Amino acid sequence: MLKLALHICCAPCALWPVEVLQNQGVDLLGVFFNPNIHPADEWERRRKEVLRLVRKTAIAIDINPRYMEEFWREELDLPMPERCAYCYRMRLMYTAITAKKHDCDAFSTTLLVSPWQNRELILREAYVVQEFLRIPFIPYDFRPGYRRGQARAKQLNMYRQKYCACIHSLNERKEESV
Ligand code: SF4
Repeated sequence: MLKLALHICCAPCALWPVEVLQNQGVDLLGVFFNPNIHPADEWERRRKEVLRLVRKTAIAIDINPRYMEEFWREELDLPMPERCAYCYRMRLMYTAITAKKHDCDAFSTTLLVSPWQNRELILREAYVVQEFLRIPFIPYDFRPGYRRGQARAKQLNMYRQKYCACIHSLNERKEESV
């Protein structure tokens, strides 16, 4: 049986990948490590939804208990697409380290469900991490189930955020809605 460390960006995005992987008999360890989220109450809100998902799906979870945006906020002050590349790499690196700590066979991420994320960049950064830490990355394409997952999240009354996560994406969202 494949033991997989699955980085979870948020609960609504995780619903579909978790269902697919559980149906395939994959032994899942969810990893919630997203210090890119701004502000702190938003991080807490997303973290709580992930705990709800964990109770519902009975997956194992490694959940970073502390809000850590201050440790890397300056690093995020980059132009695009370097900002997202750094953001993906940091989260995937933590996930791969956690995978090794728990004797997982491989790692992946629920970011691969979203048509709004940069798939090519995620894969590029994931393969850098794979090479560096010597643990396989699995490039799932969960995107065909994105709408289904979001509809399910709505049914479950899950919190669904309106912006990616970091302060820049929040500001961009505010500018768009002016
Ligand atoms: S837009 Fe999203 S992926 Fe890009 S840096 Fe911000 S939080 Fe990370």
